[in-house]
Amino acid sequence: MSNIKKNVFLTLFIVISLIVPSFRIQGATNKPYITCKEKICEIGDKFYVKLKGVGTESYVIADETVAVVNEKGKVKTKRAGKTKLTITGENGKKYTCKIKVYDTNRCKDAVTVKSKSSKKSASIKSTDVPEENFHVERATLVNFSNILYTKGTPDGLVYLRNSKITDKLTYKDSDCRLQKEVIKPLSQMLEDAYAAGKFKYTIIGGGGYREFATQERYWTRRQNMYPGYADDPYNNGGVICVPPVCSEHRTGFAIDFDATKEGFKWLKENCYKYGFIHRYEGDKTTYTGVMDEDEHYTYVGKDIAATCYLEHLCLEEYYEKYVNVK
Ligand SMILES: [Zn+2]
Repeated sequence: MSNIKKNVFLTLFIVISLIVPSFRIQGATNKPYITCKEKICEIGDKFYVKLKGVGTESYVIADETVAVVNEKGKVKTKRAGKTKLTITGENGKKYTCKIKVYDTNRCKDAVTVKSKSSKKSASIKSTDVPEENFHVERATLVNFSNILYTKGTPDGLVYLRNSKITDKLTYKDSDCRLQKEVIKPLSQMLEDAYAAGKFKYTIIGGGGYREFATQERYWTRRQNMYPGYADDPYNNGGVICVPPVCSEHRTGFAIDFDATKEGFKWLKENCYKYGFIHRYEGDKTTYTGVMDEDEHYTYVGKDIAATCYLEHLCLEEYYEKYVNVK
C-alpha cells in the first residue's frame, strides 16, 4: 500500500510539476516578440531592446567592438559597423535584432559642388551655358544655389532597358536612363516594397535622367505661364519646376515615381535603408526651394540617407551640418 501511495504521490508530483510551469509559461508567452528587429543608428547612441511576452535569459552582442549591451537590454553603440543582438528567452528561443551603426561625421561620399556662376539661377540664359560633359558623384547638391553650369551629359548613365532591373518597376520612356550605381539598390528597394505590400512603381515620363534641353522646355513653358516664376523660391512655399541648371534630374541620381498612396508611404519610411532620400519634404521648402513632392527620390548612399532620415534633414541641411562645417 505504501508503495502504491508513494507511486500515486510521485505521479501526482510529476504531473503537477509538468503542468503548472507550462501553464505559467503559456500564460506569459502570449506571442512573445522582440521590441526591435532592426536598428539603424549612430555612434554613441543608446537604446533598449527587450523581449515582450516572455522572460529574458540572456543578451549577447555578436561584435562587441561595434556595440555593447548590459543585463537590462540597454545597447550602446561604439563604432561604425554591423552587428547582431541575440536575446534568449526563458522559453529557450532566440530573438535577434540587426544593428547598423553609422559614423555620420565622416561621410566620405559627400561632395560639395560650388556654384560656377554667381548669377541668379532663374535668370541664367541657356545660350551662355557651356556644352561640356561632366562627372557627378552621388549626393551632389544641385539646387537654386548649387547649379550644374553645363548643358552636357554626366558619365555613368545606363539605359534601364539594358540593365538588370526588377520587374516591379516599369518606366514610361523607353530611353529612360539612370546612374549605373542606382540600379541595384533601386531594384532591391522595389523588390522589398513589393514583398511588403504588392506595391508596384513606374518612373513617370521624364522622371529619370533628364537632358538640359528637356528641362529647359518644361522651364520655359512654366515661365511663359507665370512670369517671374521661381524668382524667390525659398520664400513662397517652393516651386515645382526648376531651371535646367538647377535640376537634380540632370545628374541621373533622381527618380520620379508613380505609385499608390500606400506605395509612396512605404517608400518614404523605408527608402533610407537602400540609400535613397525623399528629397523634397513639405516642411523644408525654405531650404530646398521646391514644394513637397511625393514622387521625387534621390540616391545618396546609405550613410547620408540614414542620417537625413534619422535627423529629419533635407540634403541642404545635411551639407550645412556635416559637410560645409569649418
Ligand atoms: Zn523629380
